[in-house]
Amino acid sequence: MTHKLSDKQYVFAKFMLERIGFSDPKKIDSYINKLESIYGKYLYHLRPGKYGYYKHHYYSNSECIEQLLKEMEIKKEPAEIKNLDCNINRSKISATDLSNFQFCPASYSLSKSFEIEFPTNEDERLAGIDLHEKLRLIDQPVPEYYEDYQYFSPKVMPNESIDKIRSCELIYSGHSDDYTTFKNEEKKYVGQPDYIFKDPNGDHFIVEEKYRYLNPGKFSDFNEKEYKKYLNKIKYKFHKNHIVQIKSYIDYIKEYNIEYGVLIYWFYKLSENYNRDIYPYVHDVSIKVIYNNEFEILLNRTHNKLLDFISNQRMRFPTPTNPNKCAACVVNKYCSHKTDNYNELKLPYDKNDIQLKYIPFPDELKSDTNE
Ligand code: SF4
Repeated sequence: MTHKLSDKQYVFAKFMLERIGFSDPKKIDSYINKLESIYGKYLYHLRPGKYGYYKHHYYSNSECIEQLLKEMEIKKEPAEIKNLDCNINRSKISATDLSNFQFCPASYSLSKSFEIEFPTNEDERLAGIDLHEKLRLIDQPVPEYYEDYQYFSPKVMPNESIDKIRSCELIYSGHSDDYTTFKNEEKKYVGQPDYIFKDPNGDHFIVEEKYRYLNPGKFSDFNEKEYKKYLNKIKYKFHKNHIVQIKSYIDYIKEYNIEYGVLIYWFYKLSENYNRDIYPYVHDVSIKVIYNNEFEILLNRTHNKLLDFISNQRMRFPTPTNPNKCAACVVNKYCSHKTDNYNELKLPYDKNDIQLKYIPFPDELKSDTNE
């Protein structure tokens, strides 16, 4: 594994992860590595030079440490975590619940139990939400005062497949103000897809857009080749939880006979304009079509397991967890199951599982604190 943390940063990060409950050195290393790929970034400041000011770039990964410190702070006082007042047994299962549960049952339990005040990747997540609200597939292509090229790389737009979708008849838009939610009483299900269209053959189809942030920090604009290699590796890996979400729309929405669904991944990074305002820049796109005769078993299995979990309020938690997935998970600061120390998961999430272990402070760092 390669990382750019200083020796002391690494020792401190490792110490914090051990306090959080990790014990496997390989897992700790992978977790730190992934944290760095999320939070490590190239920044710059302006320096005076012979011909005026020039940009001096430097690399910073201090946010990795800050994120772990935040997790420690949360886990020191679990009683302070705000509970959500939600009667899970009486409420319906949403498409998002199915997606969360498929992604990870602990993520579902945590997001149903607590107000997640400190989600991972908050800035990028908000930028993604902003994109979802503003850069809609159908209308309002870019926010006011911006041009297309500022938001989309020329290789992303125009796009033949996207244009084909846009030329179909729009039947429903989940972004519209009326926020109609589709209900299926038999399945005790609610769902709100991004769009329903009718194609020229008269077939109805769903479209779901996902905005995926790729941090150019670690790979950096200075290493475009490595960045592209990584993008190509993940571009056509469509997540099972997104497939479950679309499949639930296809199968459970009864108002229309949905023949297929289209999953669109927009890949974006955060760019900076001359005023140093940060804005999202979409640099790649990938598309997957899911037909109504596919992924039946995946949806049924996910739905049944979720129903069991809700009725029993406990389940066996599958281990080992994947440190790459956990380090990027939105609710990871609240989660104790990522350490592999718990075989059982409860609903609501058991605050007794949220605790820190005693680990002696590393000798290597003691002189720093005594200074
Ligand atoms: S941190 Fe890992 S184990 Fe915990 S909820 Fe997220 S993905 Fe699941």
